[in-house]
Parts: sequence; C-alpha cells; structure tokens
Amino acid sequence: YAGIAMYRAKETGRNNFQFYTSSMNERAMERLRLEGDLRNAVERGEFVLHYQPQVSVDNNQVVGVEALIRWQHPTLGLVSPARFIQIAEEMGLIVPIGAWVMRTACRQSMAWQREGYGEVRVAVNLSARQFYQQDLATTIFDILQETGLPPHLLELELTESMMMADVEHAALLLRKLKTLGVQLSIDDFGTGYSSLAYLKRFPIDLLKIDQSFVRDITVDPDDAAIVTSIISLAHSLRLDVIAEGVETEAQLAYLRRHGCDYMQGYYFSRPVPAPEVAHMLTQRKERAPALPAVSGRTV
Ligand code: C2E
Ligand code: MG
Ligand code: MG
Ligand code: MG
Repeated sequence: YAGIAMYRAKETGRNNFQFYTSSMNERAMERLRLEGDLRNAVERGEFVLHYQPQVSVDNNQVVGVEALIRWQHPTLGLVSPARFIQIAEEMGLIVPIGAWVMRTACRQSMAWQREGYGEVRVAVNLSARQFYQQDLATTIFDILQETGLPPHLLELELTESMMMADVEHAALLLRKLKTLGVQLSIDDFGTGYSSLAYLKRFPIDLLKIDQSFVRDITVDPDDAAIVTSIISLAHSLRLDVIAEGVETEAQLAYLRRHGCDYMQGYYFSRPVPAPEVAHMLTQRKERAPALPAVSGRTV
C-alpha cells in the first residue's frame, strides 16, 4: 500500500508541477506576445475609447462620461485594460498611450458640444507613470489648446495610492494641474490609505467611491457605513461624490437616500462607444424625466 500511495503522490505531484509550469509558460507567452504587439498598437491605431456615463442621482441626467480604453487587437479581439495597462506601464508605453487617450477624449467632448449636445465633462484615468511624468502639465495644456476643450470639462482621475506614495509630489503636481483649470478626482476612493488630513491639502473636486463598497451596500452594514461616511466626509470638505459600480435599483435608492451626488455603473449604462453616448445625450437634451432604457451592451 505504502508503495502505491507514494507512487500516486509522486504522480499527482508531477502532474501538478507540469500543470503549474505550463500555465506559467502560457502566461509568460501571452505577456511576451502582448509586449511585442503593444509596441506597434499606438501607430496602428488599435486603441479605442469607450465612455461610461456619469449620472446625477437626483434626476438621472448625464453630467459627464469616463473614458475607458480598450485595445482592438487584430487576433485577440477587444482586450480589456486590466490585461494590458500594467504591461504598458512597465514598458513606459503608458505615456504615449495616455496622451492619446487624453487627446481623443478631449476631441470627443468637443465633438459632442459641436453637435449640439451641450457640455459633456470627460474623465480620464492617469497612471502612476504619468503621475511622475515631468511634462504632464505641459502635455495636458497642449492638448487643451489643440482641441479647444474648455479646461473645466476635463477631469483627471488619480488614485489614492498614487497620491499617498509621494504626498509632497502629489501636492505640488495637483496644484500645478489645478492652475490649468481642470477638475481633479480621486478614483477607487476607500481602497488606499489616505490620511484624512491630506485630503484637505489636495485641491480635489470629486471623490469616486470604489465599487467594492457599493456592491454589497444594501446587505453589508459595514459597507453601507463606509459609503455613508465617505459621502458625509466628501460633503463636509465641499467635494462632490460619485459612486462607482452601481448595478441595481436598490443600490441607487440607498445612494439617493444618503445624498450621493452622482453614480456610474451598469445600472445606467456599461461603457459604450461614442455614438451610443450621443444617444443618451439626446435624451438629456429632451430632458427625459425617466431613466432612459439602456439595454446591456457588450464591452
Ligand atoms: P476604473 O477607472 O476604476 O474604472 C471603472 C471600471 O469599472 C471600468 O472597468 C468599468 O467598466 C467598470 N465598471 C463600471 N461600472 C461597473 C458596474 O456597474 N459593475 C462592474 N462590475 N464594473 C463596472 P474597465 O473599463 O475594465 O477598466 C478597468 C481599469 O483600467 C480602470 O478602473 C482604470 O484603472 C484602468 N483604465 C481604463 N482606461 C484607462 C486609461 O485610459 N488609462 C489608464 N491609465 N488606466 C485606464
Ligand atoms: Mg470621475
Ligand atoms: Mg477611473
Ligand atoms: Mg475606479
């Protein structure tokens, strides 16, 4: 018996080992491939932006959108940012990609304005590498000049962890960015380790409550408490607050009851290509009182 058991253990062990190495190899292979392809993706124009509406909790009006990048890969199809942003970051490619995102988002907002949809604020995510980019403010200034977008319609999303990693740098950079006239928000708020004392030192306009707290807001009293605390904290610092990842009517009702200003999530709309946003803005123009019926979109 002992012999058989040992044999089996070895066999299982070996299989595990093979399984382990082959999945490691697959990951390494995928990574190598994405790295190679990423280098050319910018020139080949393979990136696209989808836009997710940000909606006023009071009246369901679209106030702005968040620009979210996707990579239209020639053979892999639409690749989500979770799969390539980190790689682009490590390769230093996030700087040109980030500038492309900013330029494209600003142009799009201008296009909506020209087409008669009014002012549409557009939020763009900044990566850690951009946060330390020497000429970030100049780049943004140039893009605003080039596209003609009024600065207050551009919102830059920084994460809490980026800001806390170097508080002095953050304070200087944010002040510099603020002089451009743009809006600043803290993304994924609540997941990092902000010291509340720092919050008031930063010229922030908006807090975005991370979706991990919103998910169980109606069933988990701790999450509910965290969300209501963030809302009152934001308001006492005279910041607006937006809840991310709102998927249900019940979550929305809770947020409305507790005075959250804006929401963003699948309940209203997934991130969608620009023409589909125009659709929702049309309803805004017509001042549709009811929530527009937006069917599920593929991302
Ligand atoms: P984020 O900035 O926190 O963006 C919100 C993410 O949550 C998006 O995922 C969005 O599609 C997703 N989401 C929105 N509503 C819901 C909902 O109701 N339920 C659920 N489960 N998810 C929802 P996405 O587009 O895959 O982006 C993931 C992350 O990739 C972003 O998180 C952001 O950190 C990063 N990212 C996206 N675009 C860019 C970009 O242009 N530049 C940089 N540096 N990062 C980007
Ligand atoms: Mg925002
Ligand atoms: Mg974001
Ligand atoms: Mg977020």
